[in-house]
Amino acid sequence: MADYPINKIRNFGVIAHIDAGKTTTSERILFYTGISHKIGEVHEGDTIMDWMEQERERGITITAAATTAYWSPTDAKDKEAEKVKLNIIDTPGHIDFTIEVKRSLRVLDGAVVVFDGVAGVEPQSETNWRYADDYKVPRICFINKLDRLGASFDRSFKSILERLSPNGLKLQIPDGHEDQFKGVVDLLTMEYVTSEGQKGEKVIKGPIPEHLKAEAERERANTVEKIVEHDDQAMADYLEGKEISVDRLRQILRKAVIENKIFPVFCGSALKNKGVQLILDAVAYYLPSPLDIPPAVGVDSKGQSVEAKPDDNFYFSALAFKTATDPFVGSLTFFRVYSGKLSSGSYVLNTRSGQQERISRIVRLHANQREEIKEIYAGNIAATVGLKDTKTGDTLCDPEHPIILEGIDIPEPVISLRIEPKTKADQEKMSLSLRKLSDEDPTFRIKTDEETAETIISGMGELHLEIIVDRLKREFGVGVNVGRPQVAYKETITGTAEAEGKYIRQSGGRGQYGHVWLRIEPKERGSGFEFVNAIRGGSIPEEFINPTEKGVREAMDKGVLAGFPLVDIKVTLYDGSYHEVDSSEIAFKIAGAIALQEVSKRAKLVLLEPIMKLEVITPDRFMGETTGDLASRRGQIENMSERGQLNLKVISAKVPLSEMFGYATTLRSLTEGRGTFTMEFSRYEIVPQNIAGQIMEGKK
Ligand code: GDP
Repeated sequence: MADYPINKIRNFGVIAHIDAGKTTTSERILFYTGISHKIGEVHEGDTIMDWMEQERERGITITAAATTAYWSPTDAKDKEAEKVKLNIIDTPGHIDFTIEVKRSLRVLDGAVVVFDGVAGVEPQSETNWRYADDYKVPRICFINKLDRLGASFDRSFKSILERLSPNGLKLQIPDGHEDQFKGVVDLLTMEYVTSEGQKGEKVIKGPIPEHLKAEAERERANTVEKIVEHDDQAMADYLEGKEISVDRLRQILRKAVIENKIFPVFCGSALKNKGVQLILDAVAYYLPSPLDIPPAVGVDSKGQSVEAKPDDNFYFSALAFKTATDPFVGSLTFFRVYSGKLSSGSYVLNTRSGQQERISRIVRLHANQREEIKEIYAGNIAATVGLKDTKTGDTLCDPEHPIILEGIDIPEPVISLRIEPKTKADQEKMSLSLRKLSDEDPTFRIKTDEETAETIISGMGELHLEIIVDRLKREFGVGVNVGRPQVAYKETITGTAEAEGKYIRQSGGRGQYGHVWLRIEPKERGSGFEFVNAIRGGSIPEEFINPTEKGVREAMDKGVLAGFPLVDIKVTLYDGSYHEVDSSEIAFKIAGAIALQEVSKRAKLVLLEPIMKLEVITPDRFMGETTGDLASRRGQIENMSERGQLNLKVISAKVPLSEMFGYATTLRSLTEGRGTFTMEFSRYEIVPQNIAGQIMEGKK
């Protein structure tokens, strides 16, 4: 028997733009759920979720760990019966860690999206929101920081409607703003809610103060109307003038939220301990249990699509969504069970590696302790210790019933740098540690430069690699020197061509004979590589086709124009010849590589560079300098807008990554420290001719 009914499980994450207050909100959640007994402030650097040292120093959260807690809604008539189990998936705030956000969205069933009540929707809130749209994750919104100077609930709410979804719906209104922010009105129960106690742990509910009554009535009418729209009977009752009970409104709203039709909006101040308990209530009331969402799908050993039913009696299947190295227990693999159950001591099959692994221990992580459990059931999240070869995105399942669950899309890295050990002793440690780090983080890659034998690491941004290097030193004690960050350029073609490749050696010993004709055509940006075998009539025997493709792929990796990988091409093998005795796999592999080089050179090769989507926020008076600087960086300004009444301008632009190194420092000096920016990868574009020349000469 499961230890907790599955319909009372809430797997959710808190997602936000950096600095919106995700960490503070999560801390309060842990505190109020009674697990954490001390409120840690971010600026003191002792928060509980941020358990890695450099996260603490930087004040940002990198790893997505899962934490378990329990909550009974503040309104619960029967505290025990209405208690829910919360599995809180921690998500990172910085855009360089987008993969972590995506990865956590894959395993959570709902999300709390935190906004800064001054800034409203920020670029990254938008990015994360779109990812959540992709995965159809039900969301509730929390407009935080209403106590801050310049905060506005209405303006932030409007930015949600305008920039994220017209289906945002107010469930609360605030009483006051800035230092006058005192509490909120719950528009369903029409109660005035504040909190007391040193840490706001005591929720006080009472009648709505006179000055808010008219506004609350008006807003409630609107909110109730928008809710009953989703239920014909309730709508009819409402139109007849009947009162719809709060319980019924909650039921209808729950369904609409789960179907992504309404995004309820709440408000408060996590720092001032206001509003967070009502967010927990909302998680219990409106976010789905694993039963409320469509079951995960996967592919079985016969290639058939199958559902992983969220049922304890079904075959076991789980997705490993995070691996981490813990200083005390070693490697930890976080996984979500989609179907069936798992007991410690049993074996699971990893369908990627084809290996069985023994699950020696299952641990559930609470904010400040680990709890060892014997069994884990469908819909739950936990970690296991000491798996040897399990990576992020792997499926673990019943060895008798193999299944591969839908994995996680992993973006390509856009930046790389050379890294070398400080001493000989660091050499081996460095490669081991790098391997460990790349097992944890699929957007972090390691490569050896064949010519110089140097190690090159690549990732999603400057900060991403900085953190990796920092972890190498701190966690693994490896001394390293690093080079300048380099942009991950690529090559592609813009024309179509045909060419042959021959590898024929017939003097002395055993001969070699490989001969192929290739056609090359450009493909859409980001669509990757396609190899077509159009050999008819056996001009090349079947067994030499794969080796040819392999040769083509290897040559693509090495690049033709300037040593960057060749991408987005279609290569058709349409003719060639072979020799009864001399032909071999290796000869065709070499011929394939030669032909690829030849044919690419004839098809108008160009360089591609990563273009970033940039959003800069700066006070009005620095606009001129800021846009002028962007223009000198080949930036294209796409939009400029006002941010509230704060005399702030928001500049959206597209800028090549190669022009953006050290931008933080420049922006600071241009704007007397007031400007801020966020940047994320947008797409690859062709490098202008004059710049391509500089890149090829190694000047960029
Ligand atoms: P995260 O980057 O989203 O995790 O944000 P943090 O929780 O680390 O908060 C960023 C900063 O905003 C910290 O200095 C917090 O103390 C502060 N902060 C968080 N919540 C509030 C709030 O409700 N009001 C105010 N005034 N500051 C807050």
